[in-house]
Amino acid sequence: MTKSVIVVGAGVVGLSIALHLQMRGWQVQLWDRQPAGEGTSYGNAGLIQREAVFPQPFPRDIQELWRYAGNRSSRAQYRFRALPPLAPAFLRYWRASRPDRLRRSAKDYGALIRHCIEDHMALAALTDAGELYRPGGWVQVFQEAEHWQAEIEAAVYKRLHFDVEYEAWDAAQLDKRLPMMRPGLAGAIHWTQPLALVEPVALSQAYLRSFQQQGGEFVLQDIRTLEKAGKGWQVQGESLHSEAPWVVLALGAWTIDWVKPLGYRPPVFVKRGYHQHYSQKTEPGLPLPVLDSEAGYVLAPMRHGLRLTTGAEFAQRDDAPSLRPLQLAEVAARKLYPGLGNALDPEPWLGHRPCTGDMLPIIGPLRQQPGIFLAFGHCHQGLTMGPTTGRLVAQMLEGDAQPFVDPRPYRPERFA
Ligand SMILES: Cc1cc2nc3c(=O)[nH]c(=O)nc-3n(C[C@H](O)[C@H](O)[C@H](O)COP(=O)(O)OP(=O)(O)OC[C@H]3O[C@@H](n4cnc5c(N)ncnc54)[C@H](O)[C@@H]3O)c2cc1C
Repeated sequence: MTKSVIVVGAGVVGLSIALHLQMRGWQVQLWDRQPAGEGTSYGNAGLIQREAVFPQPFPRDIQELWRYAGNRSSRAQYRFRALPPLAPAFLRYWRASRPDRLRRSAKDYGALIRHCIEDHMALAALTDAGELYRPGGWVQVFQEAEHWQAEIEAAVYKRLHFDVEYEAWDAAQLDKRLPMMRPGLAGAIHWTQPLALVEPVALSQAYLRSFQQQGGEFVLQDIRTLEKAGKGWQVQGESLHSEAPWVVLALGAWTIDWVKPLGYRPPVFVKRGYHQHYSQKTEPGLPLPVLDSEAGYVLAPMRHGLRLTTGAEFAQRDDAPSLRPLQLAEVAARKLYPGLGNALDPEPWLGHRPCTGDMLPIIGPLRQQPGIFLAFGHCHQGLTMGPTTGRLVAQMLEGDAQPFVDPRPYRPERFA
């Protein structure tokens, strides 16, 4: 088979795959209906989360579930009528959130996460993306002491099993390190290894520039059909079509539209999330990203202002946006950080995190459709795992006998 591939989806995942395959001498054609990085890769919190070795669980404790019952938490918002069709995938995710299962998933999630920094840096060296990264980690703040203590226990486990580094700050240390925050918080954890991007979409744009400079072809078209053609596949766009022995589907939350007609129906649902930029009233402003653990939003200093990103909204992927998640998060953020100024964007941005029932991404060939390869379902950490996914996909397509990580936990047929 010739080393020729069509990658569909120019988010951080598809672009990373394209770059890694190109490095190995593949002829790569990359398709997207939008300019690079304008899907979910556009609007995230910009964190390369070396600490995120546990996928983000659903609450299982009655007290915590009760907190969400009134639909007034900025951490999780839901639309009742959207829930029934999502129930089977939710149920699996809820079961996977059981503490013992979560630790098992962490083994496979963490196996990818532990490589994130080196893999981001490898692509930064190849492209001109290096200047977009800010070192120094990020800070998780807690209003309640018991939550802080529980996270410290988790941090000890992460350090022991995944070499995650952190510092625990008590209330006095937090006041000293981040004096611009409201006083009286219970404590914080400073995750010291992560990197923060100053403009997430610029990463995708830098990857695309490098891809094109190395001779890669970018096709800016909506794909309309995907069909078998001889020994390979044909992608039909608005006015162009193209054929290759391999097609990699890396369309994030939209991948599901393309795999269902191929007979593959994994349990997948979407956690939507919003962002808005704000000015800061004080100088200096926030020096590094902060997550309000109880309210579930992030405040991340970026080029275009302080970006507030929300927690999860459970709705149908294509439902109209709602203002409520951002309004709730903004109210909570103003209490935590009095320096939060005016909103700078005309309207909030909305993005889509595709999550699988067992919390792990789907990466691998679709056995029942030879020539189709999947890479999606990275839920909360697709920016973090993009370059690592790219490296893994390239090794698998090359047929490396021993990829740097065992790919079996991510294989599509685990849901068959
Ligand atoms: C509010 C929020 C905050 C987040 N914060 C973080 C964070 O701090 N750290 C982190 O690691 N992750 C974070 N994430 C998750 C992260 O942004 C995503 O996991 C990641 O961007 C997924 O990348 P992707 O390439 O898989 O998908 P996408 O970026 O969504 O790319 C998919 C592409 O497919 C294209 N496409 C769709 N349909 C078609 C079609 N028919 N034809 C052609 N192209 C098509 C789209 O245009 C899009 O460009 C966050 C997400 C949200 C919503």
